[in-house]
Amino acid sequence: MKQFSAEEKGFHGTIKAVVEIDEAKGQINKVWAENVTPNTIGAAGIATWLEKANQTKSVEIDAVSGASISTGALRKAAITAANQSKVLSIKENVDTISGASQSGSNTVKAGIPEPANYPLLKDEITEYDVDTYENEFDIIVVGAGGAGLAAAATAAENHASVMVIEKQGIAGGTTNYSGGVIQAAGTNLQKETTQFQNDTPENHEREYMKAGEGRVYQNLVHDFTQNSPKNIAWLAKMGIKWTNVYGHTEIPYAKDYFADRIHVYENGGASGNGIILTQHLLNYALDLGAKITYNTAVVGLITNNTDNQRKVVGVVTEGTDHQLKYLKARRGVVLATASIDQNLDLAKDLSPQHYEDVKAHHCWSVPTDQGDGIVMGMSIGAAITGFGGTIDFDARTGNGTDDRVPTIPSIFVNGNGLRFVNEDSTYAYEFRAIFNQEKQLDKPTYQIFGADSINEKTSPWNKESLENDVKRGLVVEADSLEELASKIDVPAANLVNSVNTWNKNATNGNDPEYGRTNGIKAFSGPYYAYRNTPGNLGALGGLKINKNCNVLDVYNQPITGLYAAGLNAGGWLGSYYPGSGTAIGGIIHQGRRAAKSILGL
Ligand SMILES: Cc1cc2nc3c(=O)[nH]c(=O)nc-3n(C[C@H](O)[C@H](O)[C@H](O)COP(=O)(O)OP(=O)(O)OC[C@H]3O[C@@H](n4cnc5c(N)ncnc54)[C@H](O)[C@@H]3O)c2cc1C
Repeated sequence: MKQFSAEEKGFHGTIKAVVEIDEAKGQINKVWAENVTPNTIGAAGIATWLEKANQTKSVEIDAVSGASISTGALRKAAITAANQSKVLSIKENVDTISGASQSGSNTVKAGIPEPANYPLLKDEITEYDVDTYENEFDIIVVGAGGAGLAAAATAAENHASVMVIEKQGIAGGTTNYSGGVIQAAGTNLQKETTQFQNDTPENHEREYMKAGEGRVYQNLVHDFTQNSPKNIAWLAKMGIKWTNVYGHTEIPYAKDYFADRIHVYENGGASGNGIILTQHLLNYALDLGAKITYNTAVVGLITNNTDNQRKVVGVVTEGTDHQLKYLKARRGVVLATASIDQNLDLAKDLSPQHYEDVKAHHCWSVPTDQGDGIVMGMSIGAAITGFGGTIDFDARTGNGTDDRVPTIPSIFVNGNGLRFVNEDSTYAYEFRAIFNQEKQLDKPTYQIFGADSINEKTSPWNKESLENDVKRGLVVEADSLEELASKIDVPAANLVNSVNTWNKNATNGNDPEYGRTNGIKAFSGPYYAYRNTPGNLGALGGLKINKNCNVLDVYNQPITGLYAAGLNAGGWLGSYYPGSGTAIGGIIHQGRRAAKSILGL
């Protein structure tokens, strides 16, 4: 046996592939990878790729969709390593894997399955059309993101047979990209690590109801907030170590119910750390007997329409071989395919702010989140609700707004040079205001600040990074406000007046215009303007459900056998996203709730 190795740059750094070859037999014996960054999406993909490579004793394994940069690099390195042995000569038939990114745009080239392109069936499939079912399970879960995995784990721990169907090559969906944080009120950890000693799920519910602006259903919000502490404990049982709790900045009209509620686990909190959560859920579910099929899309629901009642009894799947298969769901189907994140057509019809983001390629959800579950539900008469809202935050440098960094002394101005929002409010609230201003005036909005603003401890800029951003054209610099106004094309008198008013009030320590509480200090020149640019973490809105996560039809009647969970369901989030940890909290809750409802628990 001889070992050969080669290196390639992956998503998280350089990966080394080691290939052990039995030269006498001219065969690969074993393949492994070194320098893999643990707890990353790349690591999860690499584990999948290596499993296939070692099973088939080959390195000609397609990159894994969902982790294509890391696994594409590993494939290339492994082929280079194997070719160092004189007994093998393997062609690298995937020339480019450029742009196949774990954080969004996917331009995967030949040789790698592109699961985003499975078309949904246009004809309704009834049980009458089905000759034979390929297999049957108590519960079929569509989509292996956080919601789908929570449903599968709950079903498996309650002894139900469960199959999860996932379009991508790895589990986790957009949940992998999240920080994995969860909002919950009244936990011991909240008491131990924050000043909020008397917070309650009822308070949490009031905050979400206020933020929902009359567009959310109280029964859904109530069930979610009441159960969030229990869900935190459930995840701890499978090995998630919760370490601290923090808060987001304010929602101006919901301040009375605010508390630090964002629960973070060990090695969590930053984008990409959600993989820790999804891997725990996945392994827990698999250990309890759940099954999962990758690179396969659910393309239709199977219904039984007897007795004037529509009942969902199974799903139609399509894999990379493009063969349709029928799977029977004895007790229920859970749709957990997220919202219309990457679907430009549906976004145009249903969610104008989201539409602008997807059009500008600023949605960082997985490319497979196309709203399939929503379309399949609608195709058999399901109602939809809650569209229009979106999870927008700052995209370009992360400097302008971040709910963990209180805003530095600065103001936002619109195309008329006027202030229009509390700059210190939570990101999606603020970006809704930015969107409205930019649409109405057809001009960008800016964050205006002074050289002294960056001396604040909380400043995301230091002197050097600010100079860099000015050079890169991300920030505009001027000696006077008049010059700045001319550079950003706003009326000079308005900009001068906006800054002077802010400075005068800030010197008195308050913000009577918008009631801001952080970063209240006057600022002076030279002056800077940072153009607000939204980035998008997913659309809000989905199938209408009742408290049991049972999908409702357009007459508000439950569709037997059909459930929706996570961002695939609407009505639990309103016109904008109320703050970090809400989505992950909700998807875990609804995944569990859907499985429990199907099982009558
Ligand atoms: C970069 C980023 C950071 C974020 N950070 C946070 C955060 O810190 N806290 C927070 O609360 N929220 C955060 N969010 C939002 C949050 O991650 C998502 O709202 C949430 O994870 C969605 O979960 P889900 O289970 O509903 O969908 P997903 O996790 O996206 O799962 C849906 C799954 O369905 C699969 N699928 C789609 N169609 C089909 C089909 N037809 N057949 C089979 N499978 C299908 C997809 O491939 C995907 O795997 C963040 C989002 C992004 C993009």
